[in-house]
Amino acid sequence: MEFDVVPHPNPTPESAIAEALADIGFGTTYTDHTVVVDYRVGTGWHSARVEPFGDITLSPAAAVLHYAETIFEGLKAYVHDDGSVYTFRPEANADRFRRSARRMALPELPEEVFVASLEELVSRDKAWVPNGEGESLYLRPFLFATEAFLGVRPATEFTYRVIASPAGNIFGGELRPVKIWVSRDYVRAAPGGTGSAKTGGNYAGSLVAQRQAIEKGCDQVLFLDPLHENAVEELGGMNVFLVRDDNTLITPELTGTILEGVTRDSIIQLAKDRGFTVEERRIRLEEWAAGAADGSITEAFACGTAAVVTPIGQLLDGEETITMTGDFSTTMSLREELLGIQTGRVEDRHHWLHKLA
Ligand SMILES: *Cc1c(COP(=O)(O)O)cnc(C)c1O
Repeated sequence: MEFDVVPHPNPTPESAIAEALADIGFGTTYTDHTVVVDYRVGTGWHSARVEPFGDITLSPAAAVLHYAETIFEGLKAYVHDDGSVYTFRPEANADRFRRSARRMALPELPEEVFVASLEELVSRDKAWVPNGEGESLYLRPFLFATEAFLGVRPATEFTYRVIASPAGNIFGGELRPVKIWVSRDYVRAAPGGTGSAKTGGNYAGSLVAQRQAIEKGCDQVLFLDPLHENAVEELGGMNVFLVRDDNTLITPELTGTILEGVTRDSIIQLAKDRGFTVEERRIRLEEWAAGAADGSITEAFACGTAAVVTPIGQLLDGEETITMTGDFSTTMSLREELLGIQTGRVEDRHHWLHKLA
């Protein structure tokens, strides 16, 4: 697929980019360009283009605004010492994007178009890729129904887009162990639902729980599976791991209600490479609490593209607090190894890197 290019008429000057990158947050500034590919039933994917970043014109009756027909992805691009920009396992994101699309009755974007769209954007906006420790250019591909129609059925017109945003630590400031609120009032997903699709509605439904977490002085929410005796599921946008003192990682198994994280999968591989045992199974909150109390479960961490690997220091469950007593050495060394591969400082044994520009 060929991309038409409409360059930005007045791209951000280098000094302004430097200023934006000096005070890097998460998801607040956007690069100069965006990639767009349209889809119409009968025509297929068409009108692939790179154009200046700008507002979208949409009918007020567009299906996405009413029925949330939308999916997204998240990847990061890192600059290596030789100045090249790489991303991590984009084929896995392309694959998940197609699975999310199938679940939400959206069209499936071919992997080569997904990957090419990232290359198109990053090659034009390469100056926006930050090079500070833990910093990256966050890439956000998304697809939504643009068809103006208020009836309820799968739409027939869609737009795929990619935007990019320089990113630092998603939790703000320096890396520190986060505090997690256990949601007993809200559930993220149920069997047969949309839990394993990366779709906006899952996030919309999680926000009231997230607000509760903030009110309780926490950073994030842990969702449980009430159908299985409050088994641990995941955070609103991150998967969860526990570290047991016998070189074992434990993480909830993929049952269809959990988002299949690329980071989760990569951590499992890196841990196995080290000779760790990885148990993918149901984890009851009671097991976590008991393990933390008797010192057998020493560390816990959240992982995802945005959070990379972030230690979980405490879990607040109503009036109860579960405190992790370990030194987070396993968590931090897995984080270092993953970031090392992503930034080109550690050998890419599994051929996970893909050069974008
Ligand atoms: C995106 C996401 C994750 C993490 O997936 P990665 O591929 O590792 O970025 C975990 N949980 C939810 C709900 C997500 O949306």
